[in-house]
Amino acid sequence: MKSNITQFTHNLVLIGGGHSHAIVLKLWGMNPIPGVRLTLITDRTYTAYSGMLPGQVAGFYDFEETHIDLHSLSQFAGANFYLDTVKDLDLKNKQIICEKHPPIAFDYLSLDIGSVPEKSTILGASDYAIPAKPVSDFLTAWEKIKTTIKNYPKQLYTLTIIGGGAGGVELACNMRAYLTNIMKNLEVNTNNLTINLIHKSNSLLTGHNHWVGKRLESILLENGTNIYLNETVFEITSNSSDNYVISCNSGLNISSNWVFLVTQASAPDWIEKTGLRTDKTGFILVNDYLQSISHPNIFAAGDIATMENYYRPKAGVFAVRQGQPLFNNLQSIILGNKLQSYSPQRFYLSLIGTGNKKAIASWGKLGLEAAWLWKLKDYIDRKFMDSFKDLSTEKN
Ligand SMILES: Cc1cc2nc3c(=O)[nH]c(=O)nc-3n(C[C@H](O)[C@H](O)[C@H](O)COP(=O)(O)OP(=O)(O)OC[C@H]3O[C@@H](n4cnc5c(N)ncnc54)[C@H](O)[C@@H]3O)c2cc1C
Repeated sequence: MKSNITQFTHNLVLIGGGHSHAIVLKLWGMNPIPGVRLTLITDRTYTAYSGMLPGQVAGFYDFEETHIDLHSLSQFAGANFYLDTVKDLDLKNKQIICEKHPPIAFDYLSLDIGSVPEKSTILGASDYAIPAKPVSDFLTAWEKIKTTIKNYPKQLYTLTIIGGGAGGVELACNMRAYLTNIMKNLEVNTNNLTINLIHKSNSLLTGHNHWVGKRLESILLENGTNIYLNETVFEITSNSSDNYVISCNSGLNISSNWVFLVTQASAPDWIEKTGLRTDKTGFILVNDYLQSISHPNIFAAGDIATMENYYRPKAGVFAVRQGQPLFNNLQSIILGNKLQSYSPQRFYLSLIGTGNKKAIASWGKLGLEAAWLWKLKDYIDRKFMDSFKDLSTEKN
């Protein structure tokens, strides 16, 4: 794509350093449009690659292996890097309202700010539960738990995960694997650890094929995990600073030292208030160009976007796939070129790590479990992360 508008300046601002924007920054660095001022506003310098998060929990990866350095990536892209949290948009005056910086002007805007686990339906969740996202907060809590158990290994511990989708199940397997290993190394009875998984449907991994859900259920049961199906949590209360009670509609009460929230993805509240058209759950509605259906100069990708013509789950695999078409269309709109349609694939391969260097593949109606699938997952994930390292050789 050749630019013929080097004489004037457009402001393109990217909010959030999710998977799609990481790809946009890389592609921009390889093929910038002269005269366009590019800015990234992100609330953190290092952004997590979701595919490797459960593996990091199991102790297979360290922080550097699972995080992209957005500051370096912005330097490569020639982008301004603002470390700040966006809290609102002034769409009339084309300004971004941040927590720390004065309003930031834009001509074109793209949002890739992800999602957070739904908690509005659970009383006390904001105070007492640990959401799986933002990932950095989750990892901080996980480090503390590991330290507590290492320091006091002989005590009884209960850890409960609310949400039996792919993320919750994968966390349950990988947390169990890591903590059991610690306890075995310290020669402590692994029965001291109880892990509970609560899910509101009658089977785990709703949306995946039946075999995958059933196989993961057996793996968890064999590991000693307690699975509670058809249970809807309505409240979490605190007994003491390290003991909580999780109450379900059925009357079931579960006592736990830590409560993790891996419920369905929800959009941050502030998005709906901006005036951008959203779906009924607050995610930004975009057309096939990943362009807001209410504001043509605004684009969105990843979890925060809902494509009006396609229903797809909120998964990192789509955020990754949207990187290239988002980049193409951001450049096209600035250059006055025709935008290109993007259609997300209907079937996608999910590789769910089970914490023992095996993985389960879920692809449409097919499911398979094998050690080589873990190797494949590891290869795919490392290759993706490697593509953000040593970018100096990537300049055109
Ligand atoms: C435990 C778990 C495991 C998962 N495993 C998988 C998996 O194996 N495969 C898969 O496909 N999906 C997986 N998912 C889903 C996946 O995490 C998301 O779909 C994916 O991260 C979405 O990517 P994104 O680009 O939309 O946003 P994110 O990766 O969430 O990135 C958004 C970025 O924007 C930043 N940000 C947010 N708000 C603001 C703001 N107001 N101002 C500035 N910056 C902001 C955030 O800090 C973050 O860096 C998993 C989810 C969980 C919870």
